[in-house]
Amino acid sequence: MARPCEIEYLRKRIGQILKSAACLEIRFKVANICIQRFMYTYIGDAILKDDVHLDIADARQYDHTTNVLTLDSYDVAPTVIVHECTHAVINATHVGKSIRNGAHETAAYLAESLWALLNDKDVAVDVPHLDQRMYRLAKEVKGFNAKNRMGLYEVDPAEQHFMEALMRNSGNRTDVDRVDVQVGIPNGKKKR
Ligand SMILES: [Zn+2]
Repeated sequence: MARPCEIEYLRKRIGQILKSAACLEIRFKVANICIQRFMYTYIGDAILKDDVHLDIADARQYDHTTNVLTLDSYDVAPTVIVHECTHAVINATHVGKSIRNGAHETAAYLAESLWALLNDKDVAVDVPHLDQRMYRLAKEVKGFNAKNRMGLYEVDPAEQHFMEALMRNSGNRTDVDRVDVQVGIPNGKKKR
């Protein structure tokens, strides 16, 4: 069981990271997912207010059915935080949409890679051979965003499918074809 002070520490850290300048620069389109400016700010606030619940346990995941974000440590890497919070961002902002898990994961890996690039850190995702491709894609998105204040970089579907194949065939055995309806988060109501 995580101590309450560890949860509070993690909550503040996540709030700071999601409201950072780098997270404001994360925006792109993958399949039917649009990540836009201020979405991470919104989820950062939701986590600070416990509208998205936090847990520390032996997992790294956001469960949209319970609206609980679970991380394995209070000092988990910022890239892991950005990855898992991207799943929460999509669930909160794409209510009613049916989204393939492969698109969800592509968006989450791209977001964490973009965050790493914007903070001069190495892109090191947990799927073999995906690092280099994510690094290249993140560089393209960063370049596009620097030139276009409006509009979203659209990830090429062929590139997305290649990346999904890497995820599916990796040790993670990601079920890329699973489809989930995004249910949103209950604003201001604490139900747990
Ligand atoms: Zn993920």
